[in-house]
Amino acid sequence: MAGVAVHLKGIGVSPGVVVGPVAKLSPPPVLPAGMVPSGDPDADIQRTREALDRVRAELGERSAHAASVAVDVLSAQAAMAADPVLAASIFGKIRDGRAAPEAVKDALAAFGEQLLSIGGYLAERAADLEDIGNRVISVLLGLPMPGLPIRDEPFVLLAQDLAPADTATLDAANVLAIVTEQGGPTSHTAIIAKSLGIPAVVACKGAFAVQDGTRILVDGMTGAVVTEPSEEEVAERVGRLAKRRAAVTEYSGPGRLSDGSRVQLLVNVGTSSDIERAGLADCEGVGLFRTEFLFLDRPGAPSVEEQRETYRRLFESFSGRKVVVRTLDAGADKPLAFVRMADEPNPALGVRGFRTARFHPDLLDDQLRAISRAAMGSGADVWVMAPMVATPAEAADFARRAHELGLPLAGAMVEIPAAALRADHLLHAADFLSIGTNDLSQYTYAMDRETGALPELLDPWQPALLELVRITAQAGQRAGKPVGVCGEAASDPQLAVVFAGMGVTSLSMAPVSLAEVRAELSLYSAAQCAKAAELALAERDGESAREAVGTYLDSVLQT
Ligand code: PEP
Ligand code: MG
Repeated sequence: MAGVAVHLKGIGVSPGVVVGPVAKLSPPPVLPAGMVPSGDPDADIQRTREALDRVRAELGERSAHAASVAVDVLSAQAAMAADPVLAASIFGKIRDGRAAPEAVKDALAAFGEQLLSIGGYLAERAADLEDIGNRVISVLLGLPMPGLPIRDEPFVLLAQDLAPADTATLDAANVLAIVTEQGGPTSHTAIIAKSLGIPAVVACKGAFAVQDGTRILVDGMTGAVVTEPSEEEVAERVGRLAKRRAAVTEYSGPGRLSDGSRVQLLVNVGTSSDIERAGLADCEGVGLFRTEFLFLDRPGAPSVEEQRETYRRLFESFSGRKVVVRTLDAGADKPLAFVRMADEPNPALGVRGFRTARFHPDLLDDQLRAISRAAMGSGADVWVMAPMVATPAEAADFARRAHELGLPLAGAMVEIPAAALRADHLLHAADFLSIGTNDLSQYTYAMDRETGALPELLDPWQPALLELVRITAQAGQRAGKPVGVCGEAASDPQLAVVFAGMGVTSLSMAPVSLAEVRAELSLYSAAQCAKAAELALAERDGESAREAVGTYLDSVLQT
């Protein structure tokens, strides 16, 4: 591929733009079936001895360059490769008539099993032993050595996928970026790369075909990977990133588009310790207070007084700001012993969320009572909403109960397609709507949100999900009532732009995502956001929607 710019596309999971030479992480070797021994055991033993020496030397060399946490692991591995007992076992198998690579595999597997049977720390070393075996076999077969490459210069690490063991010794000073052919936005690679601040692109089809040493550009925001990029392309992408980064540091305070239109930025709160932290965030309030933590792991519901005390803590740290409390969302992924229905074969489709109030009405009324008492005199602008509302009648029932208990603003979460499709009707009684994209994806695509089996179906860029968001947001505009998004999708900066373009009035997310979302929103006008939404909705799947919007927003930044 050298010399010709080739554009590849993956999912950007850790932002940053870098250019550097590729170093590939080779996959473990596969032993050819039915290997026959060479017929010269002494020569095979000599070759194996040399392979062991080479692996030991390379691991020793790596440990000399590794970051502190990895030194011990690598030195221990180097020592294993030099172990005379291990070598004697391999040589014995060669003398017994095994081909050298098979002898290595068998001997190391036997040692690995012994370590596993001992358990504890030694069992954890079994994977290291397997790694040594793979390296020695690769040398014997004339293949590139698997595992993290060693280079004098910093490089872009290219892999099919990264195993946790590969990332344990990853050195952020040497690895400019990571590109993997497999993996998804929640893969191990994505999480590690983000935490190390290394730009990363995953699910990049065709990347592994790029040759070692090729100069490659990686854009961890847009997911673009370009081999042999032109100087203009590098400058352009670096320039765009600089613009985005400048926006991140430049902006604080309420969420706004470039033309001054407002999009409220709120945070999600879900644990007791979140309460204090959230109060310090640069946000306009709480968009989703998940109250389940108060009810979990106990035989019965907390008293009204105990609940009031917890709600009061949150309301006081948000005095002067808005707090949207979601009432108990029991069932399915949030099971509660005292609310469980007997024998539901499909709990996700069972009596969960607001539906539990039909069987336990006091539980809901007590919670509303506690919220109402805590709100009094707290200074916070307290709203309440019910989870998993399916029908206008449910929304009306919830609103009536909340209003009667002194809570003036009562809304419904839109997490079921039926609720989105009838959002106009829900808004006859509900004061606002809040879209829970996590459950709305699950129910729209009939794909369990807890399993990662078909990640593309849970991609929040899927146009059918976006269509339901649009229907709900437009219903809000017609009714003149707020419609927010509080699922994970709200924390994707470019999806936030799309939601703003659909008329969503607030976005609620983990505090860590606020700065990037705020900055991204600040770069585009309402008309440009609307255009982004239109482009996403015109696409046929999540990947192409993400790409169409990414390309359009990049073009806006260039002008
Ligand atoms: C959602 O479903 O998107 C949501 C915000 O609620 P939870 O994740 O708590 O189910
Ligand atoms: Mg939900």
